[in-house]
Amino acid sequence: MARYIDADIAEKSLRQYAEQKHANGEIELANGILKAVCKLRTLPSADVKEVVRGGWIEHINSYENYCECSRCGYIPDSPLDETNFCPNCGAGMGVE
Ligand SMILES: [Zn+2]
Repeated sequence: MARYIDADIAEKSLRQYAEQKHANGEIELANGILKAVCKLRTLPSADVKEVVRGGWIEHINSYENYCECSRCGYIPDSPLDETNFCPNCGAGMGVE
């Protein structure tokens, strides 16, 4: 099973690790880590879609009762129209 990670976060983490090793005098190891970072940049990106999450914000008071998407502000015609995904922006609502 494939495991997807954020390449930018991985690069930042590896650079920090290389800095620690460099500061400890492990220059050769630090250089090796930086070479790995350069190689990481040449790898192709996976064809994956970012998961966007949101939630229905309920507005309930004596004058009105409605909900809206926390991501885009979409307001369904009826609270009964609340779904697991926002029909406007596609955000998953409470889906983990
Ligand atoms: Zn939305």
